[in-house]
Amino acid sequence: MINVNSEIQKLGILKTNHFFIKREDLIPYSFGGNKARKGLLFFHEIDRGKYDCVVTYGSSHSNHCRIIANMAASREMPCHIIEPEEVSDITFNSRMIELFGAQITKAQVKNVHHTIEKKIEELKRQGKRPYFIPGGGHGDIGTEAYVQCYREIKEYEEKNNIHFGYIFFASGTGTTQAGLVCGQLIYGDERKIIGISIARKNPYGENVIFESVCSYMKSKKIDRSDHEKKSEIIFDDHFTGQGYGKNNPQILQTIRHIMIEYGIPLDSTYTGKAFWGMEQYISQENVRDENILFIHTGGTPLYFDDISQI
Ligand SMILES: *Cc1c(COP(=O)(O)O)cnc(C)c1O
Repeated sequence: MINVNSEIQKLGILKTNHFFIKREDLIPYSFGGNKARKGLLFFHEIDRGKYDCVVTYGSSHSNHCRIIANMAASREMPCHIIEPEEVSDITFNSRMIELFGAQITKAQVKNVHHTIEKKIEELKRQGKRPYFIPGGGHGDIGTEAYVQCYREIKEYEEKNNIHFGYIFFASGTGTTQAGLVCGQLIYGDERKIIGISIARKNPYGENVIFESVCSYMKSKKIDRSDHEKKSEIIFDDHFTGQGYGKNNPQILQTIRHIMIEYGIPLDSTYTGKAFWGMEQYISQENVRDENILFIHTGGTPLYFDDISQI
């Protein structure tokens, strides 16, 4: 286990609820975030194997690609990124990816799968040993990273004699959520773990999480019924708005407010959308007198992409 242990801070009281935030954005590597927590585990694998380059996938906005390109560059390991042509504008993440010297191959979204396979074959033909990291750090290793995060939350609860009845965060591919849900299933805890979808709709979104949960539990030979697994997956798709990366004035207002009041940066694609979604959820469901934990999943460079709007 890699000890990350990001800090949990008390924010204050929101509609009679006690409110806490886990600062994954402060994981001390390349602006942190959930992609740093996952990346540390992927590179733990890479360092133990005989690999000499990495291949991954993501857009020019991708926090995942920033982290992977940084971790590869620090090892002087070539990093190949397949990037969707449709999302290849210049952002703070893309500038950092360039700084790290990653080699970008652009492909139309519909050809991405094929392009990845071609790149891996080409590298092998040249006698290289590529390691493939799925987009966003999806898969059992990414899930494991968030089982570890769940353990940190448990340790905090035990030490501080507190119980979080609700945990909220931004859910994309659902790997972060799958890890937290596996943690909950392993420990048998009572609480609501609510992923605020930043783009995907149900049933697709929750099905992907279910598959990730099944895959991880199977790899660890832990037996739980499908019913048990499904009942812990709450993937709320009410706050996706116009889709991935699309904000609205209320999200921007939330970002402004959280920055001014607490000095914490959120962004409009992930954490700002999730924070706003959480506030809506708490009002709509009339959640009262609970201890609530928001997991800040990172994405600080995106805060700066948004800054002229907020
Ligand atoms: C990727 C990302 C997410 C979503 O994580 P998943 O594990 O794909 O659900 C949330 N927040 C930030 C800042 C991210 O970069």
